[in-house]
Amino acid sequence: MDQGYSQGMGSAATTLSATATTITSINPATGAPLGEVPEMSADEVRAAVERARAAQRAWAELPLEVRCRRVARFADVLMDRAEEVIDLLVREGGKTRLEALGMEVVVVADLVRYFAKHAPAILAPEPVPLHLLKHRASYLHFVPRGVIGVIAPWNFPFSIPIGEVMMSMIAGNGVVLKPSEVTPLIAHKAHELHVAAELPPDLFQVVTGRGATGAALIDSGIEYCVFTGSVATGRKVAAACGERLIPYTLELGGKAPAIVCADADLDRAAQAITWGGFANSGQVCASVERVYAVDAIHDELVARIVEHARSLRQGDASASDDVDVGAMAWDQQVATVERLVDSAVAAGARVEVGGKRRPGPGQFFEPTVLTSCRQDMDVMRKEIFGPVIPIMRVSDEDEAVRLANDSHLGLLAYVFTRDRARGKRLAERIEAGTVMVNDVLNTYACPETPWGGVKQSGIGRTHSAIGLRDLCEVRHVNHDRVAFPRELWWYPYKQGTFRALLRGAKLLFGKRPWKR
Ligand code: NAD
Repeated sequence: MDQGYSQGMGSAATTLSATATTITSINPATGAPLGEVPEMSADEVRAAVERARAAQRAWAELPLEVRCRRVARFADVLMDRAEEVIDLLVREGGKTRLEALGMEVVVVADLVRYFAKHAPAILAPEPVPLHLLKHRASYLHFVPRGVIGVIAPWNFPFSIPIGEVMMSMIAGNGVVLKPSEVTPLIAHKAHELHVAAELPPDLFQVVTGRGATGAALIDSGIEYCVFTGSVATGRKVAAACGERLIPYTLELGGKAPAIVCADADLDRAAQAITWGGFANSGQVCASVERVYAVDAIHDELVARIVEHARSLRQGDASASDDVDVGAMAWDQQVATVERLVDSAVAAGARVEVGGKRRPGPGQFFEPTVLTSCRQDMDVMRKEIFGPVIPIMRVSDEDEAVRLANDSHLGLLAYVFTRDRARGKRLAERIEAGTVMVNDVLNTYACPETPWGGVKQSGIGRTHSAIGLRDLCEVRHVNHDRVAFPRELWWYPYKQGTFRALLRGAKLLFGKRPWKR
């Protein structure tokens, strides 16, 4: 066990579901315990928020450029200690070393460098040209909100919450992170790096526990909540925030369709879909969760995806680097995947590869390719969040777009075609937060682009200028440019003034024959 987190945190190690006071993190590839964290009470959460708030007051006083320079040190420390972080991500999350590097560590390091460089421009006061009142001027300024609560899932336990933590601090806030109960140790590791980077230790707090601890965080006086997780929990978070009038961002589930056109580069499409469906064991909100292949290329595409899927090596990534598909982080998710695959098969889907969980030890579901899928199957409608690629034959691109949009979710979507103009045309017809042409997943690693979904995939955006500004309050200042003794419409109201204003209004806003 990692000793650091278990000392003084309760008695014997217990499983995730069996204790009221501690949570034991396990290696999902072996079942071995890794360490314990406390299940924190509402009072402890409130105290953590207060500590963050006290540290935030001095932090917010620092010039933005100074905050940027100081947060940038986190990237220095992170890259110095990358191997240690990757090792824990592999052992606690079940993912492969390459995924821990590319999808977690590099994402945070790049995000920190990007915002440390660009936040001063993004958060600089912004003039608003006034439409009517030309004798006055307006500008917006972006000020820290206070304490941001970040509630996180288990699939990317480092890049998702720590990206938000870094952006929150750059924006001048304190942050309290409630990591998933499935992967709490990596949050403590992030805090260790934060301290090593000589950032104010109390500015960033970690509160561990299950759903009740997350609910307590929303109830502890935070000024904003960034929630990433399931649609079901997102509804509860929105209701709790609504009750307290706390603004929030929700990053929820996905059901990304991949449309493969007749003119697609089939080798690239097959490789992208295989990686997009199985990377991180399919536990990605942007995973390829359904494929619509037009009739002309369906069989050839399936053959290539099946060939790639058959070549994948699955196993314990903490024991070997020669692993393509790791373990699944959460045992209950394995059961969900199993149910969805079984029900699809019972309804007529054909298993081309995989199709079942692997016997223990560890939590593994075989990389699975299903064909003969239909839109009415649960596997095509519900989020799978596991290594399964269901494929459906469609007659043409129009049918594919219609089916892609026939979903309550709309996070990511993918189009494969050699014709870039067609790709862009199709992309613009798809109801999703992001559509990629001839690629999958990667835009989460672009801190400069917005991340978030339409429909039930979420509310608001993280990353990008939009995401950074959302971590600030927008305050509007309106001031005079010319010093008149009084405004025309002030008291006393007179008929002459009314007539003059009416004439002016008609002239300005009425019919404009000279414009035709
Ligand atoms: P989850 O909703 O079960 O849990 C997420 C977090 O919410 C956990 O920390 C949990 O303890 C906490 N929580 C539970 N009940 C709560 C409550 N009542 N109040 C406050 N917090 C509460 O989700 P999960 O299983 O950890 O993650 C998987 C889901 O996350 C998938 O649906 C996936 O698509 C989604 N996800 C979305 C994105 C995105 O960017 N849109 C990214 C990653 C994961």
